Amino acid sequence: MTGEYGLVDPDEADTPGDEWEEIDVSDTDADRIARKRDREFTEFRDRIKDADQFKVTASVFDDATFAALYKLVQDGWISAFGGPISTGKEANVYTALGDDRAAEALDEVEPEVAVKVYRINASDFRDMRDYLTGDPRFEGIGGKKSQVVLAWVRKEYANLKRAEKAGVRVPNPLAVERNVLVMEYIGTDEGGRAKRLAEVNVENPETAYHVVREYIRRLYTAGLVHGDLSEYNIVVEDGELVVIDLGQAVTVHHPNSDMFLQRDCRNVAKFFSRQGLDVTGEECYEFVLENADPSTKGDDNRNAR
Ligand code: ATP
Ligand code: MN
Repeated sequence: MTGEYGLVDPDEADTPGDEWEEIDVSDTDADRIARKRDREFTEFRDRIKDADQFKVTASVFDDATFAALYKLVQDGWISAFGGPISTGKEANVYTALGDDRAAEALDEVEPEVAVKVYRINASDFRDMRDYLTGDPRFEGIGGKKSQVVLAWVRKEYANLKRAEKAGVRVPNPLAVERNVLVMEYIGTDEGGRAKRLAEVNVENPETAYHVVREYIRRLYTAGLVHGDLSEYNIVVEDGELVVIDLGQAVTVHHPNSDMFLQRDCRNVAKFFSRQGLDVTGEECYEFVLENADPSTKGDDNRNAR
């Protein structure tokens, strides 16, 4: 790993917009496939269930989740499933082999992709609601747990898109189907998953800190606050810092966005001060507020505070 931590060139990013899709989570193609359970689907499901690398983690998937995976295969995003990378509280992350559409989107032959599968039943949807309420993109979402989780996955996808546009290095989001998100796999040259910032020996903490602080500022300028930023949700790929796990990220309209921003800054500064830097959460927070582009959403929030 190099100690350079290059920033993504902002000229390569599109102008961050404030648009978002209307979110409709009422009935997905995956739900319809799961209801129909035709022969091809049941064969697919049983094959995945029996696959060695899936035995433990996928045993809890319901038919609608298998149907979402099936749809992603049919739609040309995934050609084969790999094993689990991470088993989290609310989601499992797997590797998979990307099919034609993933190859095209990532401009890579047979790319590896990451597949994040949210478990509807394990999810603490009360926590999720706190992040969705107040976000204008999700005003119509009712109280049903599955709908909250489905909205959450769409939100993660939309947040990744928006972060990417704003010039923040994140996994390129490819597709979302019901409770499943497919994105670029962040790996190492040796083939393993990229290490979290917490797991590496940070050779040049000063540069790394400035990159992270700049990414917080760019997100904020694009109207987003990560909300769970720390050394555990930043991974290192070939000397580049990649921000992951944007499911909980909120727009600056959210009533707690300012509190989340302060907390993100505090977490980041705490980590880097352990690396020997003389930085504080306040310094990072002030930097973000003072340098966020006033012509965009980020500034509305300052006026509203
Ligand atoms: P946790 O509760 O453990 O934080 P989570 O549900 O918040 O899990 P993520 O943080 O998005 O999920 O992912 C969990 C782990 O999976 C990450 O720490 C990372 O190691 C790995 N991971 C996630 N996305 C990718 C990706 N696109 N490429 C490579 N690895 C990934
Ligand atoms: Mn995480």
